[in-house]
Amino acid sequence: MKYHYLSIKWENDKRMKKIMSMRVRMCNLYFRDAARNKGWEEQNIFLKSQNILETLTAHKTKIWAIINGKYNYLRQVELVLTTKCSLRCRDCANLMQYYEKPYDIEPKKVTAAFKKFVRYFDEINTVVLVGGEPLLSKNLTEIILFLADFHQVNHIHIFTNGTIIPHEKDICALKNAKVKIIISDYGKLSRNRDNLINWCKKNKVKYHLKSEDLEWGYLGDMQPRKRTPKMLQKQFRNCNNYCRSILNGKLFYCPRAAHSDDLGYVKESRDYVDLLSGKVSRSAIMNIVYSLTYFAACDYCNYGTKEMVPIKPGVQMQRSGKENIPKK
Ligand code: SF4
Ligand code: SF4
Repeated sequence: MKYHYLSIKWENDKRMKKIMSMRVRMCNLYFRDAARNKGWEEQNIFLKSQNILETLTAHKTKIWAIINGKYNYLRQVELVLTTKCSLRCRDCANLMQYYEKPYDIEPKKVTAAFKKFVRYFDEINTVVLVGGEPLLSKNLTEIILFLADFHQVNHIHIFTNGTIIPHEKDICALKNAKVKIIISDYGKLSRNRDNLINWCKKNKVKYHLKSEDLEWGYLGDMQPRKRTPKMLQKQFRNCNNYCRSILNGKLFYCPRAAHSDDLGYVKESRDYVDLLSGKVSRSAIMNIVYSLTYFAACDYCNYGTKEMVPIKPGVQMQRSGKENIPKK
């Protein structure tokens, strides 16, 4: 009996430790984002005690609520609108180069999944619309207006490769105060970069050009690396990815895991929560979003390892399809 009591206590302790670790992680991200929103560089936040004190004082109510489990915060979630892209980057981290038949995600799936997801959060700092190339999506206005209505959503970012000028019909939605277009600058490949910037200025659409900070690491091919659980756990800790991803109604820890599943390379039900299935619990969502352990997809990825060497961004392939992927 005594032993039974102790084992329950130990189980409860383990559960409590896990919950507290998740809350501390949530708190850390909330704190960093609050400081970043003030214009402080993330890497310098902790250098000045005045910065720490100012942020803590200004946000003490929410920080306390997070610690007590009464406020759920998320830094970023990506919604995939299409796997079509106007470029064919050989080393695309999101695996677009492996799609032989790229396709648009049904807008109803995107909205239904997000509706179910957002109810578990009090605040989501940024919802990112991605592809492939999200400006190729025919459903941009519908998705933006849908997202902008949620009080939980602070910002909506649209990541584009600078090749596409948005359609006239999308101007109104793109002017929404929450929306910003983030342009990845791949030099000559971003053939409409300047036209897009001028278009944004003319139509009063917010934008940010990502040039100097565009860094790519080699994430490797889709062969299993056969790493041990200990190696995978270390890799996961180093990876520290903060982009959660929703693809076809499934919530994943990161975009690479999402597309590994979609392409059929990694089929592991523990790696995701199907938001469109009948029952979805808060703990299932939090276990993915603030996971403390690695996923099956990590064994097909170099992130967080020494193999992730720096590479030139945007090297193009001749054709799409997995047969074109060079083996390392
Ligand atoms: S532009 Fe390149 S990196 Fe970006 S989604 Fe398309 S293929 Fe991937
Ligand atoms: S190491 Fe795992 S969590 Fe990190 S990007 Fe790769 S697959 Fe995603």
